[in-house]
Amino acid sequence: MIEMDCTCVQGHHSIPTEVIEVSEHALLKVPEILKDYHRIFMVADENTYAVAGKQVESLLAEAGMLSHTLVLPSPALPNAENIGKVLIEAGRDRDVFDINAFSLNPDYILAVGSGSINDTCRMVSYRLGLPYGVVGTAPSMDGYASVVAPLLNGNKKIIYNCTIARHIIIDLNVNAQAPYPLLLAGIGDMLAKYIAILDWEISRDRTGEYYCENIADMVLKATAQCVEASKGLENRDLEAIRSTSEGLILSGECIAFCGSSRPASGTEHMVGQTWEVMDVEEGKVPNLHGIEVGEATFVAIEMFRLLYNETDDAHLRSLIEKYLPAFDRIEALQKKLHLPFTVVDKDRFVEGILRGRTFRVRYTILQYLYDIGKLESYAERVFDIVMKKHFFGTFKEQFPDWEA
Ligand SMILES: [Zn+2]
Ligand SMILES: [Zn+2]
Repeated sequence: MIEMDCTCVQGHHSIPTEVIEVSEHALLKVPEILKDYHRIFMVADENTYAVAGKQVESLLAEAGMLSHTLVLPSPALPNAENIGKVLIEAGRDRDVFDINAFSLNPDYILAVGSGSINDTCRMVSYRLGLPYGVVGTAPSMDGYASVVAPLLNGNKKIIYNCTIARHIIIDLNVNAQAPYPLLLAGIGDMLAKYIAILDWEISRDRTGEYYCENIADMVLKATAQCVEASKGLENRDLEAIRSTSEGLILSGECIAFCGSSRPASGTEHMVGQTWEVMDVEEGKVPNLHGIEVGEATFVAIEMFRLLYNETDDAHLRSLIEKYLPAFDRIEALQKKLHLPFTVVDKDRFVEGILRGRTFRVRYTILQYLYDIGKLESYAERVFDIVMKKHFFGTFKEQFPDWEA
């Protein structure tokens, strides 16, 4: 268990995660970290099996801890079909068949992968009441230590409550080999945090929402660390990979400490996830979460900048002002990294902003602008600004061979 005393009204935060291991050659430590389990069911997809799963499987088999393995076809989306497959295969046992048994479940589910595989296993772990852990293969999102899973159910994307990983194991040498779009997605998901915390502060002051200063500080420090480190991502510098991986895990931990994704998700997630949902509704495979959220971060930045210049509300101005230097740093980073965009059509862009306001019940600048009758005009103005200042090419142009 990871815990800390706090000065906020909760007084104490804790999560049941036992081990977070981020190191070179962490794969070799998997049997030792999971030594309390003896019938481990390992789940990977074809890609993650090749980069880490195969090795983990043989280490667990050698130690006599492996029940069996399921390798899903790539790309394995976190949809009802794959959740069903994992659920069915979870019950398969090596050589025991007991007609009197209610089930022959394993004693542990080990996800080997990043967002999709982790979310799929997290849901099955929750439904079966089994502990689970993850060997991460890419620093692509902050869901490793999260407590919710956004899953595809038919033509809907629904956020479900799930269990939290008991063990999070990141091998830096594996993560350093992750496809470049996944590294960019991780940065996109992390840049979002400045917006999330600013939205949270505004909600605290306007709606009286619970706010924890210590959690907010932790998230902001982790974000600053990631922004700094991202300069070394292009060269796959191990320290940059370490900082990004740790920052993303910490952000997930803060979600769990808080009991909601508030510290890690604000306007940018509501807009980015609405764009994802619009694709799902049209039967398309959604783009990488962190890429959508990264683009939507620029939506939020430009909305806050406009509001800062135009509002008479001195308190609101003072809240936004604190974040302006961070916005400048993100803008400078974008000039270097060229995070790709996926939504470049004005109607679609604006629709994501308008629908994003009610993506979930959460007070953000979107609601503030709606209440003062300016959301629509801001959405249109922001499109022009974002495309002029922050757009350096579409995802498809940059990565034509990417499948999902
Ligand atoms: Zn607190
Ligand atoms: Zn996210």
